[in-house]
Amino acid sequence: SPILVGITGGIGSGKTTVAKIFSILGIPVYSADDRAKWLMGNDEELKNQIKNAFGSESYLSDSSLNRSFLANEVFSNPDKVKTINSLVHPAVGKDFLTWASQQNSPYVLKEAALIFETGGEKALDYVINVSSPLKIRIARTLMRDPHRSEEQVNQIINQQLPDEQKNKLADFIIKNTDNKLLIPQALKIHQHLIAAK
Ligand code: ATP
Repeated sequence: SPILVGITGGIGSGKTTVAKIFSILGIPVYSADDRAKWLMGNDEELKNQIKNAFGSESYLSDSSLNRSFLANEVFSNPDKVKTINSLVHPAVGKDFLTWASQQNSPYVLKEAALIFETGGEKALDYVINVSSPLKIRIARTLMRDPHRSEEQVNQIINQQLPDEQKNKLADFIIKNTDNKLLIPQALKIHQHLIAAK
């Protein structure tokens, strides 16, 4: 079974960009965000748990997820955010392990915005934090998502563990400031993980 490696980083840090570099090196990458969305629409056990917690309105008549209903339910309601997370995170954790066991690679990556925030590191062998200064992260996010306001971006940042704390908890750090090259940093970690196997 492959070594399990998490790759995290706050909004706009560049974790998706870095994950692409590993993917080009041939490393299988699991996107927790994409997979969570898929599981909420397709995993029967998770769907039942969501229906039990939020009501039958959580799914439409064609049995697809009622995104606008759920978004409205959790909107500025921290308890409901906790409830949905307590259902989705374990489902993703389980799904990741199943997926990982099917990969033929010395290691695999789980790309997730929240790892340390949810205790996800316990199920991983190593975690990489993609680290960037706050100002740059906000600027990149606003450039990428013009529909978001700076206030909304700051709200998301406040729900995430500060970058300095993630750096302390991480096994590897990739610095993604504008003057740092990403590929050499990724290659160094790649060599290390391959040697560890
Ligand atoms: P999110 O948590 O919002 O998904 P992320 O951590 O996955 O963010 P990316 O999507 O990889 O971050 O990067 C955010 C934006 O910044 C993207 O538009 C990306 O192309 C850009 N970006 C990332 N790193 C750099 C860099 N070193 N130089 C220039 N642009 C960059």
